[in-house]
Amino acid sequence: MTRSPVVFRIPMRTRFRGQIVREGLLLHGPAGWGEFSPFPEYGPRECARWLACAREAAFEGWPEPVRDSVPVNTTVPAVGPERAFGMVRDSGCGTAKVKVAEPGQSFADDLARVEAVRDALGPSGALRVDANGAWDVGQAVRRLKELDRFGLEYAEQPCATLDELAAVRRACDVPVAADESIRRAEDPLRVRAAEAADIAVVKVQPLGGVREALRVVEACGLPAVVSSAVETSVGLAAGLALAAALPELPYACGLGTMSLLSGDVVADSLVPVDGRLAVRRPDVNYEHLSAFEIESPSWLRRMQEASL
Ligand SMILES: [Mg+2]
Repeated sequence: MTRSPVVFRIPMRTRFRGQIVREGLLLHGPAGWGEFSPFPEYGPRECARWLACAREAAFEGWPEPVRDSVPVNTTVPAVGPERAFGMVRDSGCGTAKVKVAEPGQSFADDLARVEAVRDALGPSGALRVDANGAWDVGQAVRRLKELDRFGLEYAEQPCATLDELAAVRRACDVPVAADESIRRAEDPLRVRAAEAADIAVVKVQPLGGVREALRVVEACGLPAVVSSAVETSVGLAAGLALAAALPELPYACGLGTMSLLSGDVVADSLVPVDGRLAVRRPDVNYEHLSAFEIESPSWLRRMQEASL
């Protein structure tokens, strides 16, 4: 018999958004399983979108895919150049996203890491950097020009605000992607109106599901990169369904995040092979789920509050 909803708690391999565990709730319906896993600080209004995504997965299913696999990037954290080289070479991915502007590190560290990643990728690989909004406009323009020696595909969130992103775009040839600037369904249109980005990084849970995200991306008109919110394979499958259904998918997606979690609720996890995820929808496996299932009235309450 299918029990639903079920709450899970999975330890992270590395700290993410200050968290060492990833928690959420799995919902089952006639179309399959859906994941509801908003971050702890999100209130009921924001959570309503995340719940809409889980409900779509459980009760409606997703639009037909237009491709049968999706390219994904590997992500290089703020490690030294040798480790960065090894991580990219071992990943099998043709696209790498390199974290830059890490607190406590210098720009020389960023340059060395990006150079090592270019060496590992070879000239045909795609290399993007992610500053998580840490630079001011002057820093971003100078540093991106310098990093572009190694050939940048784009820079993700070089600065924090839309005005700053727009200023960077005017002063520098490296394309800009908005990530932290897109947290709600109305944000892509604001990014577009401010001329703040060339690319929109979108996540399916905060946008309210696959259909809603397709609508938002179409209305926004910018090319989209689908990223995860570090979900289990149940949640990742929704992001994968969005990437699979987008009419155009010019860039590798940020859906190769299963390796950040120490376990999964399915037996056949959505992990990339040779830099691609096959488009499929794995089913919950109770043996795997039972290792991470917890009793949590507070998650049931969160779901109820998000339904009101
Ligand atoms: Mg980012």
